[in-house]
Amino acid sequence: MNIAFIGLGNMGGPMASNLSRAGHNVTGFDTAMVTVEGVSNAASATDAAQGADVVITMLPNGTILRAVANEIIASMSPGAVFLDCSTVDVDSARAVATQAEAAGLLPLDAPVSGGIGGATAGTLTFMVGGSDAAMAKAAPLFDIMGQKAVHCGPSGNGQAAKICNNMILGVTMIATCEAFALADKLGLDRQAMFDVVSTSSGYSWSMNAYCPAPGIGPKSPADNGYTPGFAADLMLKDLRLSQQAAEAADADTPLGQAATDLYRRFVEEEDGKGRDFSAMLPRFEGRGRG
Ligand code: NAD
Repeated sequence: MNIAFIGLGNMGGPMASNLSRAGHNVTGFDTAMVTVEGVSNAASATDAAQGADVVITMLPNGTILRAVANEIIASMSPGAVFLDCSTVDVDSARAVATQAEAAGLLPLDAPVSGGIGGATAGTLTFMVGGSDAAMAKAAPLFDIMGQKAVHCGPSGNGQAAKICNNMILGVTMIATCEAFALADKLGLDRQAMFDVVSTSSGYSWSMNAYCPAPGIGPKSPADNGYTPGFAADLMLKDLRLSQQAAEAADADTPLGQAATDLYRRFVEEEDGKGRDFSAMLPRFEGRGRG
């Protein structure tokens, strides 16, 4: 296939490279003029999108996605797939899909889970919103870039799944970190805490697969000085999207709101910026209730 890839950053770069290595003809564009092995550079997003069977976007946010969509949709071939893999707000995903459909395109919102490691290894999970026809056309590409693609329903539902998942992740990571800090104060050994919780009803991905305590459980960013991994800044972005969606949908999400407030403080007022989101544990260590 002829694929245009717009946004060749930490995630987009390795995803585009995997598509090229699998034999697709990939043309890329990034405003930062990034070069990626196997991907030829276009002079603009419009140039990249022209004549492509599938245009993939992997961009920082919904405002940028809307701007890129405005720029490229008119130059895309009817029947082409507009596959957005960025994490953006549900409203932007639905607005771009409506605009793309009106131009005879097949839109999909397909945010990912798996981080830079998953993008590089081709083991991402895609949460996909859009039509069956669009899903069928993009399926071979999901197979290359990832290990699983779940069709979540119509346009916007991929983003809805992503922000609900990450709201759970933010809340469970905070709960896991504050429980470790409480266990410390109660004189409970961290290994014993892990051995109990990871096999009891308090278990979660945050404890079992991504333990925030260094030297405990499988290897995680805690064992690497809390270098991301999944940066606290990105968790804050996703939590904010969840609260924006909750507000628009009139959903009561008190723990999601509390997690958003805590990550905002951690990133903007404390030392969380640039650290992994599991660095919440050293944040809680030694603190009292006040
Ligand atoms: P990044 O900042 O490394 O990459 C974004 C790229 O988009 C940059 O290279 C930037 O130059 C480019 N860009 C910005 N505006 C552009 C424009 N108008 N036209 C073309 N290119 C433009 O970010 P990333 O880590 O690759 O994340 C991309 C998306 O994936 C985000 O929505 C993020 O939330 C999501 N995501 C990231 C991770 C992760 O672990 N990094 C995990 C899951 C999802």
